[in-house]
Amino acid sequence: MSNSLLSDLAGALVSGRVQMVDLTNTLSPDFPVIVLPPEFGQCAPFRMEKVSRYDENGPAWYWNNISMNEHTGTHFDAPAHWVTGKDVPSNTVDAIPAREFMAPAVVIDISAESAVDPDFVVTREFLTKWEVEFGRIPPRHWIALRTDWYKRVGTADYVNMQEDGAHSPGPDASAVEFMVHERDCIGLAVETVGTDAGQAMHFNPPLPAHSILHGNGRFGLQCLTNLDKLPTFGAMIIACPLKIEGGSGSPLRVVAMIEGKNV
Ligand code: MN
Repeated sequence: MSNSLLSDLAGALVSGRVQMVDLTNTLSPDFPVIVLPPEFGQCAPFRMEKVSRYDENGPAWYWNNISMNEHTGTHFDAPAHWVTGKDVPSNTVDAIPAREFMAPAVVIDISAESAVDPDFVVTREFLTKWEVEFGRIPPRHWIALRTDWYKRVGTADYVNMQEDGAHSPGPDASAVEFMVHERDCIGLAVETVGTDAGQAMHFNPPLPAHSILHGNGRFGLQCLTNLDKLPTFGAMIIACPLKIEGGSGSPLRVVAMIEGKNV
């Protein structure tokens, strides 16, 4: 039978055998954005201005004007976001081929380590030990770091800014090199405000996730929620950034398909 693969998927969605998990935080003016040192330009938060709501400005319709940075809220980082990716082909959100917008995920749980140490650093050694226990990271997967950081949204512990900068977990250069060059990841997906650790400005090289991922044409997903609802292997992530001309990234709705246990 032709088209049986997608027909099977449609049936599984109807029956609940395949379920959708929303990995997206709600965009609101309160959602925190990354804060850079004061000498740099800053990321704008989400803004929403009512145009009309069944009133004199529009008696039968409700709509808002919105604005934000490309990297506000749950968002996608394109290779052009970083100087290392400035010459990568198809490096802006409007140019990325649509086939890249759906990809499987492997979820690496570092929530316990991150709870003990908010500056927990994922290294190549950590990942190779993880693979001995859980299995090899397959190619062209999102590597998702489950930190349970999303449970801090709405508190100061989310960005976790201290006098010496932000404190949140992330990978070092050895881990990102491993993900890209030895495991051919499609990108790195995190619940924290950036793919890099809060203190990664002090790493060598600085901000290794941004530098290495984007320099090699890989993507980032940040400010995700609900990674604890995904299996270690087997989730399919759908992440379609807005088609902003020349855009370096985009807020977006990110969802995951998982196979439900109850048919
Ligand atoms: Mn970003």
